[in-house]
Amino acid sequence: MPDQIISKRCSKCKRILRLSEFYKDSTKDRLSCQCKSCKQSYRRTKSGRQARCRYQRKYGKTKTGKAIHRRAICKYRLRYPERYKARAIIDDLVRRGRIRPPNNFKCHCGQEANEYHHPDYSRHLYVVPLCQHCHKEIHPKLRDVCEPTVIPRFEGRAPNNATFFAI
Ligand SMILES: [Zn+2]
Ligand SMILES: [Zn+2]
Ligand SMILES: [Zn+2]
Repeated sequence: MPDQIISKRCSKCKRILRLSEFYKDSTKDRLSCQCKSCKQSYRRTKSGRQARCRYQRKYGKTKTGKAIHRRAICKYRLRYPERYKARAIIDDLVRRGRIRPPNNFKCHCGQEANEYHHPDYSRHLYVVPLCQHCHKEIHPKLRDVCEPTVIPRFEGRAPNNATFFAI
């Protein structure tokens, strides 16, 4: 058995640190060459922020990047924790293939649905597939709704071929 590597030298600050002090480098499936604190301070610098921005812009153009960007805005999460949680649960189930993606269904207007609407955010698995347009009509100012306590109710007709995932 070879000796287990338990420490690593940071390429920036040259300290020898435990492996847990290094972030995983997702692209190469190994540890980053700079320690966590060096990475963090780099992120706070101007060039660090720019690099991150560039990365996000590039990533934001991919399909998953777009979806993540739309949904996982920090502010949104803090402002509407209920809504965020409800969506995250559904997104995760769709991603894992546990429920079919919304475009498998038709919106009540007859268009292909591409979003899931939660008539009640406290019932996480109760969703209605809607097209973007109809969804916007239900809550037109999704971003501007200031009272997180106001839960928009689903007023539309039930889509005939829709699946409701009632708890
Ligand atoms: Zn370091
Ligand atoms: Zn909705
Ligand atoms: Zn529609």
